[in-house]
Amino acid sequence: MSLDMSIEAVLKRASLVLSEAGSDSPALDAAVLLCHVLDKPRSYLLTWPEKCLTETESSAFDALMTRRVAGEPVAYIMGEREFWSLPLNVAPSTLIPRPDTERLVELALERAQRLDGEILDLGTGTGAIALALASELPHRAVTGVDYQQEAVALAQGNAAKLHINNAKFCQGSWFEPIEGGHTFAIIVSNPPYIDENDPHLVQGDVRFEPSTALIAQENGLADIKTITAQAPEYLLEGGWLLFEHGFEQGAAVRGILLENGFSDVVTEQDYAGNDRVTLGKWHS
Ligand code: GLN
Repeated sequence: MSLDMSIEAVLKRASLVLSEAGSDSPALDAAVLLCHVLDKPRSYLLTWPEKCLTETESSAFDALMTRRVAGEPVAYIMGEREFWSLPLNVAPSTLIPRPDTERLVELALERAQRLDGEILDLGTGTGAIALALASELPHRAVTGVDYQQEAVALAQGNAAKLHINNAKFCQGSWFEPIEGGHTFAIIVSNPPYIDENDPHLVQGDVRFEPSTALIAQENGLADIKTITAQAPEYLLEGGWLLFEHGFEQGAAVRGILLENGFSDVVTEQDYAGNDRVTLGKWHS
């Protein structure tokens, strides 16, 4: 059988297949995977729609399509995802950085500009938040902590790849690897916050992400409670604690911060207008 293997035809067929497989962005997924196989930028697909794939390119593309049709996230297939314009390596041991988390970075940057001091990112994963902050504030020391050793190695690799020298990463549970008396101006965290019974956990990309990065006990609030209770010991006077959380958790997270003595507690929205980040200030 002779199939038309032009770029245009391949993309059209692949988008149809991915759309039937349930992808939310079939045309984009197909284009990204094809660019990866051809090792070309997206503009190439539009410039050369009639160009034909070689047999080797075609079978390499089919192999990636098989993985995507099975639901594997594009970011894991590519091994990379951009966050805050930083191309980060990603692996199945970490959460895939989300655009909404850039909101947490923006809010942390605003606070960091008002108070000098070090920055701590708890549950750093790929290092996305820590590296975004470190890249914007090259004279501030940033520490990222993750419980998973694979995540720590990945974040260190990302720092090296991006030539970011003011971020370091260590392994441990939340504040465990931080020495007593070490204080920070800003503590940020995108901890696990999804309830284990949330139906979203069996849909789309999250099925392939580590449950340790997604699920928390007590309706998703257990880790936010643990971090908030310990944070005052590690915050400078006037320092800020900022959390990303679920869109229905704003009131609960404000309550946790207030109960633990934080002031100026507010919830901010993500780019879709959903409650996404809650922050508070520490006065000893
Ligand atoms: N925002 C992510 C999601 O809803 C979850 C991230 C997290 O648990 N920290 O898929």
